Amino acid sequence: MSTLEVSAGPTGGPALAQQRRLVTAIPGPRSQELLDRKSDAVARGVAHTVPIAAVAAGGGVVVDADGNSLIDLGSGIAVTSVGNAHPAVVKAVQDQVARFTHTCFMISPYEGYVAVAEALNRLTPGDFPKRSALFNSGAEAVENAVKIARHHTGRAAVAAFDHAYHGRTTLTMALTAKAKPYKSGFGPFAPEVYRAPASYPFRDGLSGAEAAKRAIAVLEKQVGGDQLAAVVIEPVQGEGGFIVPADGFLPAIQDWCRDNGIVLIADEVQSGFARTGTMFASEQFGFTPDLVTTAKGIAGGLPLAAVTGRAEIMDSAGPGGLGGTYGGNPIACAAALATINAYESEDLAARAAQIGALMRERLDALKAADPRVGDVRGLGAMMAIELVDPTTGEPDAALAGAVAKDAIAQGVIVLTCGTYGNVLRFLPPLSIGDALLGEGLDVVAALLAGGGA
Ligand SMILES: *Cc1c(COP(=O)(O)O)cnc(C)c1O
Repeated sequence: MSTLEVSAGPTGGPALAQQRRLVTAIPGPRSQELLDRKSDAVARGVAHTVPIAAVAAGGGVVVDADGNSLIDLGSGIAVTSVGNAHPAVVKAVQDQVARFTHTCFMISPYEGYVAVAEALNRLTPGDFPKRSALFNSGAEAVENAVKIARHHTGRAAVAAFDHAYHGRTTLTMALTAKAKPYKSGFGPFAPEVYRAPASYPFRDGLSGAEAAKRAIAVLEKQVGGDQLAAVVIEPVQGEGGFIVPADGFLPAIQDWCRDNGIVLIADEVQSGFARTGTMFASEQFGFTPDLVTTAKGIAGGLPLAAVTGRAEIMDSAGPGGLGGTYGGNPIACAAALATINAYESEDLAARAAQIGALMRERLDALKAADPRVGDVRGLGAMMAIELVDPTTGEPDAALAGAVAKDAIAQGVIVLTCGTYGNVLRFLPPLSIGDALLGEGLDVVAALLAGGGA
């Protein structure tokens, strides 16, 4: 896949040229027309980053209604990791949609759901009997993981970390750390959620053991290990800034959870599915959570999410206690099976590691040349740079925002993240070619250097 320069047409039709091509300003007139309709029809709270009307996507590009072709370094937030409209996913969806679209798995079960559960049980970390339950979104998966942990332990309290992002529903908003834009004005929040300091090596300078000791001390003193149903943690924090914890942090948290009978939930909604160079990021830290939540990369863009974990915990909730009308929809399950097959048969974890090495080399060079690049971090094809004021180390959100905005205007989709809004994150689809990826990074480098591209 690394030399792929033309993506297969989504329906066997003409292939999408793998190139950056600007034929109008961004947004062009047709895109602007849709954006005007959007502001009249869609709630303002549902914002957008890239001012285009998307009409096609595949390989490493997104094409808009004006014929502009943008290099995709975002994958719709780590969703289309197998590539947009991956031909096998398209075929699986078409076949399934023609057979049946819905029965409700809680009414009339079907094989696709069971096969996805089997695949997740096989692929997630931990060599023990597992069960899975399927849902529609990452937030819904996190909510259900907490429900399951509470039912299993008979306890109420839940711990999350600084810089955490777990979703926008009432419970997951409470678990999410950042107030603006996610929480401000949306309270009251779900009770019995407590926050511990995370490991943030660039900013706290602590070893993994020290950071874990600090977090555990807070939870011991402010909540009590015997009160906690669950600890929810992203092995690599996503929206919070692609923060990779210091070595030893996650295993120490794991040991403490085991000692206190706390269900350890790894939120791999963003870091999962080959993104970090292994099927799940947890594997790279010697980290074996009790439950794992997944979504984003699971089904090539169709809405699906899951909780997977220890059978005795997952089976705690009684019949009817879990589920939902659409959870594990048959079309989404067909897409997931094709997607998971693509991760495995195309060895996309290895491709993610390759992409990661390529990005790290380029980003390290940027850091060496520019003191405003304070940190280069990430795992595999989940890489980021944190931009700072070189004299004070203070976050420079204005610079990150300006570079991302200008990159988009020049035909490269770059997203920001971070508690302080000063992180540029790179999440290319694993179907992107090296040349296109390099060109995307060239544009970012030129913008940082103060020029165009
Ligand atoms: C995106 C995300 C979620 C929420 O997923 P949705 O599908 O948007 O509800 C939860 N956890 C993490 C780590 C995420 O990145």
